[in-house]
Amino acid sequence: MTVGRGQRIRVLHIDDEEAQLLFAKTFLEEADPGLELVSFRDPAKLLDSLDDSVDCVVSDYIMPGIDGMELCHRVKERVSVPFILYTGRGSEVVAEAAFKRGVDDYVRKESDPSHYQLLAKRIRSQAATYRRLGEQRRYQERLEQLRGNLGLLSEASSLRELAEATSHIVDRVFGYDCCCFTVFRDGKMVPVFTNGHVELSELDIGVDSTQQVVDEDGGRVVVPLKLGDVHGAVVIGSPDGVGEQDESLLGTLGTLVSQSLHRVVQTEKISASEEQFRSIVENVQDVIVLTGPEGSITYISPSCLGVFGSAPEELMRRMWGDLVHDEDLDKLELFYAKSLRGEGGVIPEYRVRCGGEERWVSHSWSPIVKDGEVWQVVSAVNDITWRKNAEKALQMSLDELEQTNKELNDFTHIVSHDLKAPLMTIESFSSFLLEDHGDSLDVAGQDYLSRVITASQRMMGLIDGLLMLSRVGRKHTGYAEMDVGGLMEEVLEDLGGQLDASSAVVTIGEMPVVVAQEVWMKQLLGNLVSNAIKFNESKPPRVEVSCRDVGDHHYFTVTDNGIGIPESQRHLLFRVFSRVPTEKRYPGTGAGLSICRKIVESMGGEIGVESKEGFGSTFWFTLPKGRASVMATEIESEVKAEFQ
Ligand code: ADP
Repeated sequence: MTVGRGQRIRVLHIDDEEAQLLFAKTFLEEADPGLELVSFRDPAKLLDSLDDSVDCVVSDYIMPGIDGMELCHRVKERVSVPFILYTGRGSEVVAEAAFKRGVDDYVRKESDPSHYQLLAKRIRSQAATYRRLGEQRRYQERLEQLRGNLGLLSEASSLRELAEATSHIVDRVFGYDCCCFTVFRDGKMVPVFTNGHVELSELDIGVDSTQQVVDEDGGRVVVPLKLGDVHGAVVIGSPDGVGEQDESLLGTLGTLVSQSLHRVVQTEKISASEEQFRSIVENVQDVIVLTGPEGSITYISPSCLGVFGSAPEELMRRMWGDLVHDEDLDKLELFYAKSLRGEGGVIPEYRVRCGGEERWVSHSWSPIVKDGEVWQVVSAVNDITWRKNAEKALQMSLDELEQTNKELNDFTHIVSHDLKAPLMTIESFSSFLLEDHGDSLDVAGQDYLSRVITASQRMMGLIDGLLMLSRVGRKHTGYAEMDVGGLMEEVLEDLGGQLDASSAVVTIGEMPVVVAQEVWMKQLLGNLVSNAIKFNESKPPRVEVSCRDVGDHHYFTVTDNGIGIPESQRHLLFRVFSRVPTEKRYPGTGAGLSICRKIVESMGGEIGVESKEGFGSTFWFTLPKGRASVMATEIESEVKAEFQ
């Protein structure tokens, strides 16, 4: 900035001659009306009048008691102002000495008044130089101070702190006591901090203002803050107005505050979203764990208390492996190996320590990869102890049930077996009695004996049924691959007598090759075909055996044109010894279908019937493909183990 023409320049002029002072004031003020001469004859008075408002000192050389050079020295001790030596007695030597003592310029007194023009120019030029230097110095000083205060801005962690730091700098560095800090949110101006006399309502700050605005009347400057999508403004003012020289520095301050504002707003956003995530993580039931790739815990959610019996701070920085049951440590190898390769995964179950107890958890994880390196691994650990306990209890009940079933089967088997021998004796001896000594009995006696024989035979049938039922499902009855077509031929051969007697027509569709227990498969098909012929009044009885492939299982049907089954009875048929009460005319014990059901279920299938009374029935059963082969393998290995 230069002191242009017309700008006021205050000059202190000292001379021991009154006339010199008067001439100088008259001619200099005439030569440059911007000059304001204040005249002195007494050096002490001049020194007392020195302050910031003085722009230049013009001094005579020889004065009583002091010379111009000495005065120059004293003036410069107090203020930084140009000093011009104005003398009629000068010489080159004097001039050189004067410059050495700090005099800024040297003008000779002439009798011709035109030399005042020269003096006026020199005064203006020196004043301008000093003002410019003064401004530069002040600028440098403030810049230094600004730098010194940058720490305040960078330490601010909230908008309020940032506003206070800014206000502090405005006051300390620039000396303005008024600072209003405001941000723009959703197109609205939101004041964060105000001190001093600035009323926000009076301000006209546009949301997208990027230009610094100087409001001279109000004595304030609006410094816009803008970086990316974050913006606001700092309004700075003072009742005495804002110095022109500060305007560019305030712009610099605006840039620095903008950067801090951006950082604070981003930090606030991050901490808000961090808060949100933290509350999610802390409220989920799973234990959320962050570990380093080598397994040290860097974060664990509070739900760890329930699973590990310890608070997060106790588990932090421990190794994950420390929390795992010794016997299950090998399961963690998968976790370490995969996560180090940057892969996620799941360990369905393993045991962890909870105080002195153990708990079961399932563990899924996913690594966080940064710049191609595994930085952290985030895991969700779910307490499945309750499920494991339930499974254990269920397994125990199943084991007990299996044991009870086995005992019951064994019991049935033994009892039936033991019952059969005396019964056979009764039946045999009754038959011998009737055959060999029947004549000794009257008709009633023979009838009684015949009834004993029939009842014995019937009971033997029941016992045979029971024996058969107890045998079904015993594992060691060899699963093997078989052609059901061939099996059916054997079945028909076994039923030869019944087929001949009834002249039944049996059609066999395309039969598959299956893996099953051959003995029971034959028994099953034999029972169903035999019933289809037995409970049949049609001439001829027709039976159709067929099979469909239904994906993972075979679907067999045995269809007849027999008497059919009343709907109300269908659900009872598969119970042991149950028969349709109205059909007593057909021989049987009622064990056949329950044996069929047990056979089918032991091979993992289902059995059922569809029927229309008077028109015939279709008995169906399924045979799963996979299960049969698995059981075949299981049985094979069990049998091997047992006989080794
Ligand atoms: P049983 O043949 O010894 O009577 P099952 O258990 O084989 O015993 O059959 C039970 C009952 O189911 C039979 O008594 C009969 O009433 C009925 N039943 C079975 N198969 C058929 C069929 N194909 N048609 C009509 N009724 C049937």
